[in-house]
Amino acid sequence: MSNIRHALNTKRSDDFAAWYQEVISAADMAEESGVRGCMVIKPWGFGIWERIQRLMDNRIKAAGVDNCYFPIFIPLSNFEREAEHVEGFAKEMAVVTHHRLIADGYGGLKPDPEAKLEEPLVVRPTSETIIGDAMARWVQSWRDLPLLTNQWANVVRWEMRTRMFLRTSEFLWQEGHTAHENAQDAREETLRAIEMYRACAEDELALPVFVGEKPENERFPGAVETWSIEAMMQDGKALQAGTSHYLGTTFSEAAGIRFQDREGTQQLAHTASWGVSTRLVGGVIMTHGDDDGLRVPPAIAPWQVVILPMLRDKPEDEALLDYCETLRAGIAAQSALGEPVRVLLDKKPGKAAAKRWDWVRKGAPVIIEVGGRDMENSVVSMLRRDALWGENGKPAFGNPPVGEVPGNISALLEEIQSGMFETARERRDANIRRDVSSFNELAAFYASGEKYPGWAEVLWSRPTGEALDAVVEKLKAHKLTFRNVPRDAAVADGTCIFTGEPAVERIYVAKAY
Ligand code: AMP
Repeated sequence: MSNIRHALNTKRSDDFAAWYQEVISAADMAEESGVRGCMVIKPWGFGIWERIQRLMDNRIKAAGVDNCYFPIFIPLSNFEREAEHVEGFAKEMAVVTHHRLIADGYGGLKPDPEAKLEEPLVVRPTSETIIGDAMARWVQSWRDLPLLTNQWANVVRWEMRTRMFLRTSEFLWQEGHTAHENAQDAREETLRAIEMYRACAEDELALPVFVGEKPENERFPGAVETWSIEAMMQDGKALQAGTSHYLGTTFSEAAGIRFQDREGTQQLAHTASWGVSTRLVGGVIMTHGDDDGLRVPPAIAPWQVVILPMLRDKPEDEALLDYCETLRAGIAAQSALGEPVRVLLDKKPGKAAAKRWDWVRKGAPVIIEVGGRDMENSVVSMLRRDALWGENGKPAFGNPPVGEVPGNISALLEEIQSGMFETARERRDANIRRDVSSFNELAAFYASGEKYPGWAEVLWSRPTGEALDAVVEKLKAHKLTFRNVPRDAAVADGTCIFTGEPAVERIYVAKAY
């Protein structure tokens, strides 16, 4: 048994859900708002989202996609034009019906019956139908294609079971919407977007993911194909971390996105849409957090390095602050992971040790403490958040010469970034079973009582329609879901563990968020 006194009360191994909530409050990331399913995102949580947003936006722009903004209100009739789409979203749409309130006679207010909207307005759950209208106006000829747009926005889906960041009723996201001359171009865009998500998740969030196609039952309402990136959380559950949809002509038929092709005939455009949300922040917590709080990968850490002077309310403080400021400026002049290093000199009042634990819980990648003794010896006391504890059960401070810190910071942050990815990938790969050869074995594996059983990768025959529904029901009885079919999943021989037919592909099965 280790004698470490961890910085959180709840351990991941005891109660993962409670641990998750504790990290969010201990790292001061977000809080419940009092409005059902809606959260307040506090500076540290929002700072991480802003970093993700910026890095993703760079990738979106580099792909030639332009940002736009569309209304938050979508006429109900827009949804009614596409039956499958409206059916998929109807049960979670918030609707505006009135534009004025009047006194209710009891000291309160009520919607004014005189101010009833002619047509209800839906608070957007996703924007295919309204962006489709714009595309129909903007696209006339093949020369207008491809049309590549994206918006950063909030959306509302009236979720029944909510959990901060992972599933909220209002969430922040980007939604890319593109129109193309033909199916091939639209499918290429669908795959380009999911590959962009993979690269951002792996290189910047240090989240190892599997790119693959969702089975038919998990498709976005109205989509022809849905692709996802799937990540494994530390409790072995799967998180769908981003999706990209090939929509065929579903939405261009509904909105009338027609163009004159190269031969002069009228054609329907093929469209695609793709999105990632604030859920990614939840994925970062559940992948990288530990029993001391959050650990933020340097690429998305609002502060990568935090310097804590051990101030004593004495005249010597001035010299200590000068020493720290010189260090801060030296570090700020460096670049790491392609950007200037983000370093904070935290001069807030309070004991350095208490502040250290605050930054540990927030997960700043590097924490540097500087006291009078350090200054005398021209060193600093430095902690890596990814290697917090020494073998003696005490925080593993290093004491590098102060002059060497700026020159080494870039390599250190890059090492932490890639180390976090490797750790997460090894853990994921060690928790995937590939030897399950029957449904009974699969069920037994998940019934074995193991707390965090992980995933199974199994052979299947890609059933569709009712045959697929039957399989999905069987999985559901064990609280299991299909995740995705990885890109290189075709198999030459083997038997589907669900249907007994010849297998065509491999697919991931897991409990999921
Ligand atoms: P979709 O438009 O349904 O494909 O959703 C796009 C992405 O948004 C998904 O891949 C999820 O990562 C994310 N997402 C969906 N619903 C929620 C929610 N209620 N809260 C947070 N993120 C969500």
